[in-house]
Order: sequence, then structure tokens, then C-alpha cells
Amino acid sequence: MQQTITLLASDKLISELTTAYESYFQKTPPYALFQAKIPGVVITAYQSKKVVFQGVNAEKEAAMWEKRGANTTQKKQSSSSSNSLPKDFASWNVVGSDEVGNGSYLGPVVVCAAYVDDTHMPLLKELGVKDSKMLTDHDIKRIAKEIIHVIPYRKLVLTPKKYNEIQPEYNVNRMKVALHNQAIYLLMQDISPITPKGILIDQFTPESNYRKYLSKEQNQVTKPLYFTTKGEQYHLSVATASIICRAEFLTSLEKASQELGFTIPSGAGQKSDTAAANIIKKGGMPLLEQYAKVHFANTQKAYHLINR
Ligand code: MN
Repeated sequence: MQQTITLLASDKLISELTTAYESYFQKTPPYALFQAKIPGVVITAYQSKKVVFQGVNAEKEAAMWEKRGANTTQKKQSSSSSNSLPKDFASWNVVGSDEVGNGSYLGPVVVCAAYVDDTHMPLLKELGVKDSKMLTDHDIKRIAKEIIHVIPYRKLVLTPKKYNEIQPEYNVNRMKVALHNQAIYLLMQDISPITPKGILIDQFTPESNYRKYLSKEQNQVTKPLYFTTKGEQYHLSVATASIICRAEFLTSLEKASQELGFTIPSGAGQKSDTAAANIIKKGGMPLLEQYAKVHFANTQKAYHLINR
């Protein structure tokens, strides 16, 4: 039987996984760190540090890594998955929100909330709006250009500079809660007097944790909140928000590459270390702070590259 197991790995485990599967690498899908194929299992490690094992031997292979400290986030035997959304949720008028960039060493964190009602849905489907992880960078930019003219949305960009300033006080989840809430709050004002039947947040932390951080915010949107992972599969509003986020993130990296004169990659792998070393050589830590989330381990690795 086909199995899908998702693990959440630490940086250390990601590098162990990389070493273990290096000789089985195939073409890296968008937003992945790597993809490897061994008999009976395809292993994909994402920038979010989620590692997905798929295939008849997925469970066995993943179990080995679980013993070495990875956390299981989901266990699935087939494609049927459970969440608490109402049955006809996909047809509701919904504000959906998603973010991108928090797993990438270089570049901003972008959060977007988008409002999608039944009048938008046929067009979104025709434009090819779906899970942005399945779309190429080129498609994402093309589709984003079209949908921003039709769909009410709010996009917030947290630059690396700002991220570094607030990072010790705001952990990444608190930051994300603040950004999601603010984007949703602003969008609700934009579309008023219309109110969405639901607000779907692509889940990044348990609901209790979201609400804990939400209670510290000024303009709290507390209902009608729904949470699910893989939100883009349950409502087009999250898929739309995700595409707008990713297009903005890609553009930010391109802009950074132009400013610096060399490629600024996404992710948190070796390419990021090399790019960071080049930034440090150019303008030291002050310049790096403009482009990188400096608390990542990549900063130390970049200094090692320079000093060796
Ligand atoms: Mn997400």
C-alpha cells in the first residue's frame, strides 16, 4: 500500500538526511531542499524542515529517522485526511491566509490573506490556482499577476532587517500570528460590509498557541477562525493567498540578487551559506542583516567559509 509519512526534522537531522540520501538525489522540486529516490520510497525534504516519505516502504524508512529525533507530524495510510472543517467548506465565502519565507535563511517573511467567494471560483480554477508547491516559479508569477486584479487581498512583507529587530522578543510563531492577524484584520475592513462565512488559516501551530499569541495583539480577529494544515487543498482562498505570497517572495529574492550582483537563493542549504559569505565580504554583518535571518545557523557557517 502507498504510505505517506511526514516528519519534522531539526537542522542537524536535515544535514544527516542530506548525507544519507545524497547519492539518490533527483531533480529538486520547488520549495524543497532535496528529493531522493530509493527502492519503494521517495523522500522529499522541504525548506519548512518537513520531510515527506512516500511509497510502499515509507513507514519503515521514516521510522528509522523517528528514532533519531524527528517528530511525526502526520501519519496517513491513504489520501483521505481528517480535519474539523465543515463538509461543504470549499464552497463557502472565505478569507484564507498563508505565509512563506520563514524557512528560508535569505529573504523576507511574506504573509497574505485573500478573500474568495463563489463568484471568483470559476476564474481561479481556470487560471490554474492550486497548491503552489505543485506550480513552477514561472507559473506562480504568471498566475499572481492575474489574480491580484480580481481578488481582494492584503499582503504583508516582513523584511529581514525588521525580522532581526523583533526576533529575540517575537519567536517565529508569535511573529506569524501577528502577521496573519494583521493581514486578515485589514482585509476584513477592505471588504466590509461583506463578512466571510469562515477564515481559514493554513495551520503552522496548534490553535491554542495561535489564540495565546493572538491575545497579545491589538486588532484581534477571533472568529470565525478555522485551522488546517494543507489549507490550500481545502479552500481556494488559501491557495490564492499562497500564490500571492510566493510571487512576492520570489520577486524579493530577485531584487536582492540584482542589488548584490550575485544570486540570492531560497532555502537554508549550502548555497545560502555561500551567498551569505559573499554578502559578509561585501559589507560585513550590517549588510547581512539587511538580507538574512541572522539567527539561523547559516550565519556561523558563512563565517566558517570566510575564515577557513
Ligand atoms: Mn502555509
